[in-house]
Amino acid sequence: MLRALNENNGSIHPTKGAMGYCPNCGKGVRAYCGEIYTHHWKHLELEHCDSWSEKESEWHRTWKKAFPLDWQEVIIKKWGEQHIADIRNPSGTVLELQHSSISSETIRIREEFYEDMIWLLDAQPFKHNFHIYSLVRYQLRVMEDSYSNLIDWGGPENEDEHIIGAKKELEEIKRKISDLEWQHNRTKGSIGELQEKLKKPGTHLRKVLRPNNFYLRHQSGFKPTAKKEYEEKKAKIKSSGEVITIKSEKLEKIIDLEDCRFVGMEHFKYVGSARVAPRNFKRCCAIQKESGGTLFPEVRYFNSEWDFKQTATSPKYHLLIDPSDIVEGLRVEISHLRKERKNLKKEKRELFQTMEAEFLNFLQSNLVQTKKELQKIISETEKLQRKKKEVKTKIAGLKEEAKKRREASEKALIQQRRIEKGDIMKRYQGLYGYRWKHRRKSWDFSSMPIYLDFGPHIFKVLDQSTFRKISKDAFMDTFKNGGIP
Ligand SMILES: [Zn+2]
Repeated sequence: MLRALNENNGSIHPTKGAMGYCPNCGKGVRAYCGEIYTHHWKHLELEHCDSWSEKESEWHRTWKKAFPLDWQEVIIKKWGEQHIADIRNPSGTVLELQHSSISSETIRIREEFYEDMIWLLDAQPFKHNFHIYSLVRYQLRVMEDSYSNLIDWGGPENEDEHIIGAKKELEEIKRKISDLEWQHNRTKGSIGELQEKLKKPGTHLRKVLRPNNFYLRHQSGFKPTAKKEYEEKKAKIKSSGEVITIKSEKLEKIIDLEDCRFVGMEHFKYVGSARVAPRNFKRCCAIQKESGGTLFPEVRYFNSEWDFKQTATSPKYHLLIDPSDIVEGLRVEISHLRKERKNLKKEKRELFQTMEAEFLNFLQSNLVQTKKELQKIISETEKLQRKKKEVKTKIAGLKEEAKKRREASEKALIQQRRIEKGDIMKRYQGLYGYRWKHRRKSWDFSSMPIYLDFGPHIFKVLDQSTFRKISKDAFMDTFKNGGIP
């Protein structure tokens, strides 16, 4: 205890070597004035003069000492009972200091006795039994999470739909332009080819007339009127050339036969190894080989094909033939064929010239058409280039608008967040959430205000999950002014 009485019933502080009387039981007490602990009084004989008092700790003494002396250890007599209240202010409110744990029954009895009281518990021994968090910080974090999501998001997504649409349009235009570029190159190539062909239309017409080249690009539309006739002439020229060759060879063979030198028989030729058909029997004769060396050889003529067949192949005879009418006939025939062939060639040339003129026309009109196409492609490309520029400008505008909208909504969000933050700080200032790790149920039945001394500060228990933080100074000031902190 910190207060004792002297012989005149006056309150005295403990001083070194001093003696006094217990205000409660009147028995002798001695002052203890050491270096470490708060100076205090102790009964000379160890006994509990108040059944409610517990072993006084340094924590008790420190708190008591903070109040005026006559507020400390106030004896309260009521209903035939007498108890020492730790602190009582002039308004009559008792501050009961509780260091060790007590039962709910003890709590109830003391609250009923003091009636107007508050509890201050030394929470330092069990402060780790709480999980405590700042409600301001907790609420701010919840708020920050929702705002940072909103701000990152950057406003309503569907605002960008216009930009997406315009970008698609731009891609489509670019694709069309590159398609036109390809067409442009191809058409320019075609023009070059046509111009090349116009320099030598004949050469190219010959290529076109070859059956497997006819459907080549740029000739596909060309249908020469005289093509069939031209092909026929060509075939005729070829076959008549073959006939002339055969006939000429025959004539050559006949002329090459050995001449007969006998007088009056110079128009005959030795047949030799050549073969003569029996129907020529009238043109032929045979000379007996044995008489061949004489001046007058024995000559035999044939009177029928039968006769010819019998004698002509006999080894006793040389067979001779007079081919003059055949030679003449062949010569006339060959000459006629040659003349005819020359005419065919002339006609073929004329047909070719007709087709060449047609081809030239075809190439020229094709060139005009292709140049028109190129012009169309160029103007189409220019149109698309202008459109491309327009769409790009549009996209830039839309982006700028979206950016402004985003900035405005972000600004509004930041403003709103600032206001909300202020509200939270005001509303939750000094409030803390708490959870017991191991619940101490005895205090659940207390009906008086409970304060927990955590050392640096005090928490007032507001409900099952909330504390209010109070500084020691504020606690003291309020209680000294007769209020409930
Ligand atoms: Zn006593």
